[in-house]
Amino acid sequence: MKQDIYQVEQIAPQTWRIDECGRDNCYLLCGSARALLIDCTIGTGDLMDVVRTLTDLPLTVAVTHAHGDHAGGGYQFGTIFVPRAETDRTWRGPNMRVFRKQLLSNRMKKSGITKANVRGNNLKTNWLPYDDGAVFDLGGRTVRTAAVPAHTIGGMVFLDETNRLAFLGDTVCPVLPMHTYRALPLQSFDDQSDRLTTLLDGYTLFCGHGDGRVTHELVQKQIGWVREILAQHPANAAKHGKQYYPAFDPSGCVGYDPANLYPTDRKKGWTIASWNSILRG
Ligand SMILES: [Zn+2]
Repeated sequence: MKQDIYQVEQIAPQTWRIDECGRDNCYLLCGSARALLIDCTIGTGDLMDVVRTLTDLPLTVAVTHAHGDHAGGGYQFGTIFVPRAETDRTWRGPNMRVFRKQLLSNRMKKSGITKANVRGNNLKTNWLPYDDGAVFDLGGRTVRTAAVPAHTIGGMVFLDETNRLAFLGDTVCPVLPMHTYRALPLQSFDDQSDRLTTLLDGYTLFCGHGDGRVTHELVQKQIGWVREILAQHPANAAKHGKQYYPAFDPSGCVGYDPANLYPTDRKKGWTIASWNSILRG
């Protein structure tokens, strides 16, 4: 097995960002009694081994949402907590079997990570549901979840109330991912924006991709951009595909699907074929 898949960065006392070959991030938080791993990557390397180099505390694993690049490594841990709305077989089945392999980035492939690195059957992993407001007590450190249904229906933000650190998963990333597999209509992000602003006030923000950093300024810019997109498109466009607003910029923009703006418009059947078309872009 390749040994250099995961890079570790300490981002705060007893808190680490674990980067899976530049593809996605998970976060390890330690209290005095327990450790919490927020998200668990695609699982292309031995993540459990990395965690064990950082702590030997009893470990809880919980994911912000059930996309394969956040929950895929769950097979290494036996049991993971997953937002209740995403524990069903439609998330666990093709999402894990097929999409985890498709999610390998070009950078991963250049680094020698292949589909053969994607192991483990997540249907054998125990997915325990958790809800909005769930509390993970790590001993002198309390982490609370807050539901923000936008990127996905069950999407959660994790708030370390003791240290004022917020872990957003994909709720907000530099490229706001509202154009991905099973993203809710773009209007959902607008619906959540006031709550999100209030929730995150005073917190340092970390997300599931890139170097993990998200500024409050970027969050407010994206809220504004989403409103501009909706104002410019009073109804769904017929075309299906991904677009970026105001233009593609890895440091900040909105990714969206013109055919998935409003919940009142036609329901889109998320199929493997439609996901493939998005991946091919
Ligand atoms: Zn995601």
